[in-house]
Parts: sequence; C-alpha cells; structure tokens
Amino acid sequence: MSHPSDDPNSEDRDRLSGWKEIAGYFGKGVRTVQRWEKDYNLPIQRVGDKSDIVLASRKALDAWTAQGSPKPQEAPTVQAPSTARDTTAMKRRSVAALLVIAVLAGVGLVIWRPAPLTQRTPRVVPADWKVMGDQLYILDAAGHETGHHLFRGLIDGDSYYAGDRRDGGKVKITDIDGDGEDEVLFITYVSSHATDGALYILRADGTEKLPPVSLSKTVTFGAQKYYGPWNPQRVFTVPGPSGRPTTYVSFIHSRDFPSVLFELDRNGQLVGSYWSNGYIETIARTTLQGRPLLLVGANNNEHESSSLALIDGWTPHGSAPAIDDKYRCRSCGGDEPLRFIVFPRRCAARAIKGGGALTKIWTDAGGNVYAVSGEGKRSPEGYLPSTLTYSFDSQLRPLRAEFDLGARLLHAQLEKSGSVDHPFGPVDASEAFPLLAWNNGRFAALPRATVSLDGK
Ligand SMILES: [Zn+2]
Repeated sequence: MSHPSDDPNSEDRDRLSGWKEIAGYFGKGVRTVQRWEKDYNLPIQRVGDKSDIVLASRKALDAWTAQGSPKPQEAPTVQAPSTARDTTAMKRRSVAALLVIAVLAGVGLVIWRPAPLTQRTPRVVPADWKVMGDQLYILDAAGHETGHHLFRGLIDGDSYYAGDRRDGGKVKITDIDGDGEDEVLFITYVSSHATDGALYILRADGTEKLPPVSLSKTVTFGAQKYYGPWNPQRVFTVPGPSGRPTTYVSFIHSRDFPSVLFELDRNGQLVGSYWSNGYIETIARTTLQGRPLLLVGANNNEHESSSLALIDGWTPHGSAPAIDDKYRCRSCGGDEPLRFIVFPRRCAARAIKGGGALTKIWTDAGGNVYAVSGEGKRSPEGYLPSTLTYSFDSQLRPLRAEFDLGARLLHAQLEKSGSVDHPFGPVDASEAFPLLAWNNGRFAALPRATVSLDGK
C-alpha cells in the first residue's frame, strides 16, 4: 500500500473518518470496503450513540493488508505501467522453464502440464448498477461491486430510477464492440436543460472503454436554429440478425422539442440520423418480406400527441414530416419515413394540458405492429398513466385500439375533479380515432377500427 509517509505519532494523521475516506485510502468504492468489513473483518471502529460514526486507523488497515487478509474477488484493476524489464524477465524465466522441461521430457522424467504463467483475474460480468450522489457503481449478478466511476457534478443520483433499466433508459449493459465482454453505457444527467450530457462507455471496472459520446450539431427547424450541445436521453438495444444487438441512442435539445436518433456503432461512433419534432421514446425493428424496417415512437409537437415513424432499413435516416414549417427540419437532409402516423390527442391530455407519446412498440410473428400511446402526467420514472394500445397490420393499417386500466383510472380521477365533463365511454371510444397518416405532403385520416374500452 503506498501512501504519503505519515508521522506515526500523530493520531490525527493516522485516523480515517467515514466510509469515503476509508474507501479512498484503498482506492476502492465505499461498497467494496463495507463488504470487506463484513466478510473479511476489515478493522473499523464504530463510535457514537448509534455506532453511526465510522473510524479507522491507517496503521490498523495496513496491518490488516499485510496480514494477507483474504481479499474478495476484485474487479480487474488498471494495470500499473507495464515494465519492459518484467516482461523480459518473464520471457527469460519462460525460456529457462521450457529448456528444463525439454530436458526432463527428453529423458522421460516428467509429464509436463502447462501452468498459467500469471494468475488470471476471474472475468467480471457487469449485471446491474446503482447511482449514489455523483458516483456510478457497477455490480455483478450477485450485487457485488465490480467497479465504479465518479462523475463529479455531472450526474444527480436522484435522477436515476429503476425504470432506467428498461430499454430506452439512461443505462444499458451490452457488448457494444463485440469483444465478448459487456460494457456499461451510461448517460450523464443532471437536468434536461443541462448542456454537458454525454454517453459514457465503461468497462466492468468503471474505466472508460471508448471516449464519451456527445453531439454538437446545429440544425434548423423552420426559421429557428438549434445549436448543440445536445443531451443524450435514451439508449436502446435491439436484437440483431447476427445475435449481437444493435445499440441506438437518442439526443434531445436542451431547451426545445427537436430530438434525434442515431445508431451507435462498435467504435462508439454515431451513425445515420432520424430527426423528430418531439422526444423519441421507443424503437423497434422488424422485417417485412425480407426488408428491414425501423419503427420509431415519439412525441409529436405539431399535434401535441404521439407519432409513429416507419423507416426503411435499420439505420436511422431522414426527418419527421410536418405541415407547420416550425416543426420541419430544413437542414437535416435525407428523406421522409416510409410511413408516418400521428395519434389523436385525447381528453385526458387536453384536461391536463399535456401531450402524449408512443411509449412502446412491438411486432408479432405475423408482421402485425402494436403501439402504446400514453397520455397524462409523467411519473418521475417517465411512465404515462393513461395508455391505449393500437394494433396495425404489417402495412400499418389500424386493426384495433384498446384502452387499459390506467386510462380508466385516470379518467375517473379527472372526472371526479371536474377536469373532464363526461364519464369514460363513447366519447373516449370516438376519440381513439382517426389516426392521421402523412401522404404526399399532407395528413389524411386512416379508416377507424374497433375500440375496446375495457380490454374485451
Ligand atoms: Zn374522456
């Protein structure tokens, strides 16, 4: 253990106070040293009325280390600058060993079994994560820390939720570069108005595997220029044909509605771009008659509701169409989606003066497409309480719309408070349609389909 030489007589300098200092002394995370105390009797003193003050003596910790106290399995630590001499020495030793073996084997004295030259660190697989303050802890499947990363002031622990484990959350564990080891993709977030958000690509031990991904680009919607930097908002992984999932990441403007979706390639580079005039919430991929298609669900600012874009190919391109110039990207280049559908704004959204968003899209084996359109006030985790699930055939012709329990509950609440003037029923069934489809420079109503108010 290397540390500044202390005056051994100074108790003050010998004392470490609190888990943070103790962890810092070892260059480990707080969770790690807490586990050492529990599992390996790390010498800690607890004082105070409730034994809530934690102290340790450097000397005692050094003695514990020197004792060779059994260490738990640790994450691979960053290797000390490699020394050429070590390598040479190791080579020399190996050569010598091989010579001895050759001689011995030559006279038939031993059966040689290769032994590992160096002790290999067991492979650490990140499985989960936790954010406390501005520290990210990466955990294995047993909940033990494999590493951590300190984001000084760049994140707010209170802004990370269990919901961020979902696809489209702020954190994703996936093998982005295809080397057989999972990385932790982590979006730094303080507030949606911050301008220093980035997507970090970390190893299990918390070190950076690839440089952080950020976006500074200027685009024009209508007469308005939107300057970067943009904030990454969601990370998606979609199963790919090769078995290796493809990663996508969406960014939002720090002040206004524009939003963009990229594919993130194995080198951590942003590829393609689909620009939306509302936050992108969910994506899905499908294949129709051998043709790869990307589905993008978003909020739509022009209609204060939700939208579904069907894009040719699996790499995002183009931008969302709009009637109002304000909501149309002039500088994004590319084309319009193959299909673009806008969902109606329903009474719940009008009552709370909110919008809507497509929060989930999936497809079935028959090529049918399902899309959940949500409304209401977002929970801190980002859920919309009132949802209506639409189903479509593979050509995105509406087949059915079904309100869920959340829609009925929110409606009852709004009715009770006088925010809506009708009981949940025919008015709502009628409001589920029509859907508007972009067609040759305008929106046209699609034929209505069956509505179920109660899931029957
Ligand atoms: Zn209603």
